[in-house]
Parts: sequence; structure tokens; C-alpha cells
Amino acid sequence: MIKCWTEIAQYQQQGAILLLPVGSTEAHGPHLPLATDAIISETMAQRAAAKLTAGGHPALVLPTISYSVTDFSQDFPGSISLSFATARAVLSEIGISLIRQGFRYLAIANSHLEPAHINSIQAACEVIATTTGRAVCFPDKRRRRWAQQLTAEFLSGACHAGSYETSLVLAAQPELVQQELQQSLPPVEISLSTAIQAGKQTFREIGGDQAYFGNPAAASSNEGHQTYDTLAQMLIIALQETYPELANLATLAHLTD
Ligand SMILES: [Zn+2]
Repeated sequence: MIKCWTEIAQYQQQGAILLLPVGSTEAHGPHLPLATDAIISETMAQRAAAKLTAGGHPALVLPTISYSVTDFSQDFPGSISLSFATARAVLSEIGISLIRQGFRYLAIANSHLEPAHINSIQAACEVIATTTGRAVCFPDKRRRRWAQQLTAEFLSGACHAGSYETSLVLAAQPELVQQELQQSLPPVEISLSTAIQAGKQTFREIGGDQAYFGNPAAASSNEGHQTYDTLAQMLIIALQETYPELANLATLAHLTD
């Protein structure tokens, strides 16, 4: 929800933590919306903000960045890709703008895992740190320490619009999932991470003719809610590591909704 500037001024005075959802506009199978990553990042940020606020730390979810580098889905209509340089510039300029207004704590909630996109976030964080002297919190969920807390499908790498992401959209906005179709889709058990390491560059080249990998039919809103809880915890633990001066955040991570 976008608030008016007078409310934002109060958050600023309270030393609020800002959470910036970053997604993509990208094909996610025949059953999920192009906005899947944006929906997941936004819901993850909202869950983290609720835990932080309940624990006495004001937190504000910023408007979502819905465009980034999405070259793997280039064969599918509606997927919109920015260049690496543009993606880095958008994110770094947003961060610099907020820090210059006096905000000190900024975390990125990301759910689009294309390597060039992740690199653009890391590069933007470096630009922000060099320009303002402030670190940005960005947990990269591909890292083993986070990935092993997520689902078996996520860990397998066969996880684009499969059970992992379908469950997350079912939990957040079930009306956007074409559920009859979703339940009839056969699994595509091809690891994206392995294919990317082997040099493949598009979903079609990897064997995802319908722009999904994994097992959409196995998804459930229950799995989605559990995963959001883990994602919110991840964000709060990463915030504590980036900003040790914020006391007691880590204990809030495990509060249940
Ligand atoms: Zn996705």
C-alpha cells in the first residue's frame, strides 16, 4: 500500500526498516501470471514487515520493482527484459534516493533467480554502498545456507513455476492461478541451475517448452504459507547480519504470524 508523504516522514523519524520487493515480468508456465516473481517478493516483504512491526521495529514495504533482466524467457510473449546496466541503475538510484532522505536500513526481497538479474542486484548494492557509505541487505536465496531451508524442489534446481512458486502464488493470490490446468501439467524434472552452468541461455533451449520446470501439480497453498514464513525469517536474519546495531531482530524472525 502506498502511503502519503506525511506518513512516510513518521517512518523516517522512527528509523524504519525499508523492504524493497524485486521481481520480474516473465513467463511462468501456462498456469501462473507474468507477475509471479513480483507477487512472491511482495508477499515475502509483507510477511517480514508484519513480524518486524509486531516486535516493535517499524517497517515499510516499498512499491515493487516489476522489471529486470529476464533473457531466459525471451521466447515467450509478454516477458519484458531490461539490460543489466538499466536494471543496476534503477535499483541503485532508488536506494541512493532513499538513503539521501535519511533512511538507514534497506533490504531487498528478491525472488527472480536468473544469474544476470542477481548480478545486477549485487552490482547495485555496491554502487549504493560506494555512493552513500551504507550497506544494503540482500540475501541471495541460491546460497546453500538459505536454499537448504526451502523446499526439496527448490534445492533440486527444477524450480521455475513448479511446485515451489505455484504454492507461493496459491498462498498469496489463488485467483491468479489457473488451477484446473495447473493440476493437469506433467512434471518437467530438469535442473535449471545445472543447465545454466552448462551454458544454456533460454528456457526453450533447456527443454521448458511451456516455460515451467518442476512439478506444478504438486503445489498447495499450505506449502506456500510455510515457505513464506521461512522467506520472512531469512530476510530478518539477513537484516540482523547487515545491521548488527539493530538489537534483537533475530529473535523476531521466528515469531509465527
Ligand atoms: Zn519466478
